[in-house]
Amino acid sequence: MLKALVHSLVFVFLTLLTQIGGLAYLLYFVIRGRVPSHRFPKITNLLVFGLIYLSFSAGAALTAPLLGREPLPCFGAFTDSSIQMQSPLYCLLNRHYVSPRLKSLTFALADHVDARHPGSITLALDAGFPFIEGFPLLPHPSHDDGRKLDLAFYYKEPNGAYLPGVTKSPLGYWGFENPKNKANSACKKAAKTLSLRWNMEWFQLFVRHLELDRQRMATALKWLKNEGRKKGLSKILIEPHLARAFSISGGIVRFQGCRAARHDDHVHIQVSG
Ligand SMILES: [Zn+2]
Repeated sequence: MLKALVHSLVFVFLTLLTQIGGLAYLLYFVIRGRVPSHRFPKITNLLVFGLIYLSFSAGAALTAPLLGREPLPCFGAFTDSSIQMQSPLYCLLNRHYVSPRLKSLTFALADHVDARHPGSITLALDAGFPFIEGFPLLPHPSHDDGRKLDLAFYYKEPNGAYLPGVTKSPLGYWGFENPKNKANSACKKAAKTLSLRWNMEWFQLFVRHLELDRQRMATALKWLKNEGRKKGLSKILIEPHLARAFSISGGIVRFQGCRAARHDDHVHIQVSG
């Protein structure tokens, strides 16, 4: 009974984290049930699961485009692409799929920033899963249709040079840009309950002391608001003090509210169709 509960929890956890990981676990479980496990060392189980999971992930990369979701580049270092995932971990977890429209918009943005500031790399964070309309990518409930994507900010050394492909935090998230004057904070009294507005104070130990690259930020945000809108962008979520700092307030630039995740560590974009 306890074993069944543990296996069910592993299935649910892998499904929520990677979408297809739960199915890979199910197949692994069936195979393991047919082969006496005592014949093999425990590491073999892990290798078999890993092999099934990677095969499923490769299958997803091949079939998702037929169903309207395309992967963003995972290994930018091996291509000349100016857009890439912030970490291969996002690809390993199948969280890098977007609609063709959002993909071409993201490439156009990255090319524009690179043309204005040669050597720039635009980094993508959580996007969407490969399959199923309405399947949320937690902890971003709205990332459920391939039409939403989070982009990392551009950073430079304090008073120094731009750092291509680098983020303040190891994941790209939670390296917050607090307003210099707390009175300018959009949420002076953040909701304590039922809120995704995490301050992640414990995580700040892992965040590097870097500055925003304001030139690249301004170029990217202005392109998104003007050219991006013409290409189907319907919403940009960023914290109001940053929208004011980069003079992009209004129009498709919105504030997500005080119960949703903070957007002073990344920018969220979404297309209409
Ligand atoms: Zn988002």
